[in-house]
Amino acid sequence: MLPAVVEPRADEDPHPPPLTVPRLLRRGLARHCPLCGGGGMFRGWFTIVDRCPRCDFPTERIEGHWLGALGLNTIVTTGSVLVATVVAFVITYPNGSAILAVAAIVATAIVVPLAFYPVSKTLWSAIDLAMRPPEPDDDIDPRWIPPTAHHEEG
Ligand SMILES: [Zn+2]
Repeated sequence: MLPAVVEPRADEDPHPPPLTVPRLLRRGLARHCPLCGGGGMFRGWFTIVDRCPRCDFPTERIEGHWLGALGLNTIVTTGSVLVATVVAFVITYPNGSAILAVAAIVATAIVVPLAFYPVSKTLWSAIDLAMRPPEPDDDIDPRWIPPTAHHEEG
C-alpha cells in the first residue's frame, strides 16, 4: 500500500522554509509534522507514527517527551471545564438545573481531552522543536533540515 504522503524523489530539493515559531505552531495545530509540515502523522485518531513519513523526523525525540503533550492536554481540558462551568452557571442562572450543568461539565471533561489528544502531541513536538533545533541524533532526512531561523516575525 502506498503511503498517504508522497515522498520526495531522490533528486528533489524541497527547500524547506525557516522554522519560525508561528509556522511551527500552525503545523502542530494542524496535526502535521513540525519539521516539514507533512501529514500522515497518525494511524487512526490516537496513534502517532514513530517517524514522519516524509522527512523522517522522530516524533519521540527523548524519553519522557510525551509528558509535555500530557501537560498541554491537561491545561486545555482544565480551561475548557472552567469555561463550561461558567457558561453552565450563566445559562441556568437563577433557576438553573444542576443536573444539566453537571452533564455539560462532565461531557466537556470527557470530549475535550479525547478530541485534543492528537493535537497535543504534534503541538508539543512543535514547541519542543522550537526550543531544541534538529540535532544529528534525530537522524532526519537532511534535505528537510531548514536554514536556521532568525526569530523573524510573522
Ligand atoms: Zn516531516
